[in-house]
Order: sequence, then C-alpha cells, then structure tokens
Amino acid sequence: MGADDWSALAGVSSTVLALAAVVVALVAFRSEHQRARFEAARALHHDLTTGEVAAARKVIGSLHYGGFGAASAPVDWNEALTSYFTLLWCFERIEAGRTALVRGVVRSGDPRSEAVDYLDALVAWHIAEYACGFAIARRKFADASAQEVSDVDSTSGFSRLLLALQERGLVDRAYGAGICAGAGCPCPCHQQ
Ligand SMILES: [Zn+2]
Ligand SMILES: [Zn+2]
Repeated sequence: MGADDWSALAGVSSTVLALAAVVVALVAFRSEHQRARFEAARALHHDLTTGEVAAARKVIGSLHYGGFGAASAPVDWNEALTSYFTLLWCFERIEAGRTALVRGVVRSGDPRSEAVDYLDALVAWHIAEYACGFAIARRKFADASAQEVSDVDSTSGFSRLLLALQERGLVDRAYGAGICAGAGCPCPCHQQ
C-alpha cells in the first residue's frame, strides 16, 4: 500500500467517525426530544387531576351524578359555575397542548406519535365522562337560572378534543359535546 492509499484510507475513516458522531448526537437529541414530549403529555394530564381542577371535578361530579328535581342535593350555583369553567379551560389547555404535539407528527407509526398516543389513552375516559357531565351541568344551570350559560368560546377546545378522540376510536361516537342524548347516551350516570 502506497502513501497515497494510506492517506485516502485515513480520510475515509475520519469521515466515518465524524458521521458516527453525528448519528450519536442525533439519537441523543431525538431521545431528549422524545422525553420532553412525554413530559408535556404527562403535565397536561396532571393538570386535569390535581389542584383547583380536581376540586372543580368534585363539584361538577355531584351535579352530574346528583339527579334532578327535589331529590337532588342543594347546589351552590356560583361555585358550580366557576367549577364548570375551570374544567372547560383545563380541557382547552389539553387541546392546545395536544395540537402542538400532533403538529410534529408526520405519519402514524412515527415515534413522535407515541406521546400523543400516551396523552390520548390517559384522557379518553375523562373526555367521555365530561361530554355527558357538561351537558347535564348546563341543563341544571338553565333550570336554576332560567337562562343558558354563555360558554360558546370556552367549549370549543373540549369539542375539538372529543372529536379528535372519537376519530381515533378512543371515545364512543354516541357522545356529543354539550349534548346528552338521554337514553341513547352511553354515560354510566343514566344507569343509576
Ligand atoms: Zn348523558
Ligand atoms: Zn352522564
């Protein structure tokens, strides 16, 4: 092997080494990026299950499952209305966060979709519950104050979230945002 051959070989191997370093850096970057995406998904679910949102869930839960008419428990309507919007705004944050996560996904099977799958699996049953729960709460607000709650802007995030999860087959399509079909509604509150 001549001197030229050796220097060509050295050139090739340093190129291979440089490429390998780029691949290692890329894998580290991707796994760091992936970790950040899972952390974002986890934080969105955490928001739904802790603090003032958890307190709001108790209030809306007793409205949702508390029955109608004379048999229903007494309600602090100011607190109930605050709780209703607290929960709607939490779903609005989840929808915005999910949209940001989805934006980076090119196709299904893309590793970046794993954080979206994780978030969807965590929040699906909550979304199903509140599809009916919000509708029941709205009906009770209307019964109590003889006027509709003006919540059109606040409900749009929840509606988009419900639709997205229904399209993925994670939430029963019989649920409608802000509408409870009564006998046709799959929510367990109707089986009481
Ligand atoms: Zn229902
Ligand atoms: Zn229900």
